[in-house]
Amino acid sequence: MHAFSYPQLTMDTLGFAQPLLGGFMGSWAGSGKRQQVVSPITSEPLGTVTNVTPAEFEAILARCHNAGLAWRMVPAPKRGEVVKALGDELRLNKDELARLVTLEMGKTRRESLGEVQEMIDICDFAVGLSRQLYGLTMPSERRQHRLQEQWHPLGVVGVITAFNFPVAVWSWNTALALVCGDTVLWKPSSKTPLSAIACTKIAERVLNSFGFDPAICSLAIGRGSDIGDLINTDPRVALVSYTGSVPGGRHVGKLVQERFGRLILELGGNNAIIVSEKGDLEIALRAAYFGAIGTSGQRCTSTRRLIVHESIYETFTSRIIEMYQKTKIGDPLNESTIMGPLVDAQAVTTFMEAIQTVRNQGGRILCGGDHLPDLGECYVTPCLAEVSPDLPMIQEETFAPLLYLMKYRTISEAIAIQNNVPQGLSSAIITNNMLESELFLSVAGSDCGIANVNTGTSGAEIGGAFGGEKETGGGRESGSDAWKTYMRRQTNALNFSGDIELAQGIQLEF
Ligand code: NAD
Repeated sequence: MHAFSYPQLTMDTLGFAQPLLGGFMGSWAGSGKRQQVVSPITSEPLGTVTNVTPAEFEAILARCHNAGLAWRMVPAPKRGEVVKALGDELRLNKDELARLVTLEMGKTRRESLGEVQEMIDICDFAVGLSRQLYGLTMPSERRQHRLQEQWHPLGVVGVITAFNFPVAVWSWNTALALVCGDTVLWKPSSKTPLSAIACTKIAERVLNSFGFDPAICSLAIGRGSDIGDLINTDPRVALVSYTGSVPGGRHVGKLVQERFGRLILELGGNNAIIVSEKGDLEIALRAAYFGAIGTSGQRCTSTRRLIVHESIYETFTSRIIEMYQKTKIGDPLNESTIMGPLVDAQAVTTFMEAIQTVRNQGGRILCGGDHLPDLGECYVTPCLAEVSPDLPMIQEETFAPLLYLMKYRTISEAIAIQNNVPQGLSSAIITNNMLESELFLSVAGSDCGIANVNTGTSGAEIGGAFGGEKETGGGRESGSDAWKTYMRRQTNALNFSGDIELAQGIQLEF
């Protein structure tokens, strides 16, 4: 018996009809294994999706590749118009798409709306970018020569996504890939196929309305170990953009590298906030709380470690315990809910096991860490654990609301603790002291791809390049000049001297 239930899923505006086929190549296909999609909110089924077979995957990739041969010839600003329309269509469907994201993976409605907003934002960004795919010109050392570089489309971009951002990660890649003249073959997480089908249907409508081949945005739903590996190993997939766990990324990385394919790896994080005694305690508490509880701790940028100055440790700890104990846990569609369920029962087990390991290794549970079966299978209370910085478990990313608290004495010690994990995605310091914040941002400071001051580790904006160092994989996507990974650079030397001259002064003797 569940404490609440949701109204019947109606995806009329997204054109849903049963059965849902998991493959798209301009037309829909999918005769592979059937998969029932279950909502973590109530554990009730949302629908059934068919996977694609290897033969269907081959047809999808071939169509997507062929569609690219025409798409790359379309002027970039015209491609930008398509992305503008995609953003407009997302605006129209924002509410409904956000609702689907919540139903399918359990993040709160407010967060889902934020996720769809991020899709809209990246479309806006990409529209401007479609007129700014700049190459440089350089002075040539040779008389009456010119040097320039230009950027060409790559081809098919294989986009493999994680469950926790079931729509935004596709859009970060797709909006850029489309203006860059690439086509996209998306393999979403098997935990969130409905959101992927919804986005693909939106893209299909937009591309059709312009008369372009809708196979430009293709879809192949299936298991990572079969469909994923077909993407990893096929040379027609020029760039693989993989978002997921570190072990998954290690596997994908090896296969793509083996064939010298291009790679964007967006892998796990183990993000910390340094809370200085010279910072604002209220800001620190709110940054830490949202960072750790948001999306039930299932963000790659979730705050997992708090490194707190010893002089404020007791005050900070008692305040955050209070906040944790007041957390409203429940139906993520309810506006007042702060934390919804974990994505599935397996995630609950992993969370519980991690807490037990922390205990076994000498950590102290300060609050939370309970299963709430009365709410449903996937609900837990968020957990705070006091640990020493050398506790082995804190080296790992537990993808759940498990937050470690530890003390530090000096700022250098805090930075050393912050950097002493294999992952390098996001980091933050809460301080009003300029010497501390500058040290944190300097080369001797945080070793992460994202380093923030007086704001938390999660909640990146699309304008900046997003990604992390070390085991987070080194990839960058979204804003800034991340678009360059989606194109190939060509350097041109042009001679208008009427003669032939070699560089470096080398003489040609006949
Ligand atoms: P996961 O690694 O289980 O799955 C990610 C994707 O990889 C899924 O689509 C899965 O089907 C696919 N996959 C599995 N085997 C594959 C294979 N052999 N070849 C190709 N693809 C394969 O991750 P998850 O549980 O869905 O997501 C959580 C993880 O993702 C966390 O570690 C989180 O930190 C990370 N993540 C990172 C970012 C980032 O930007 N750095 C963003 C979101 C999530």
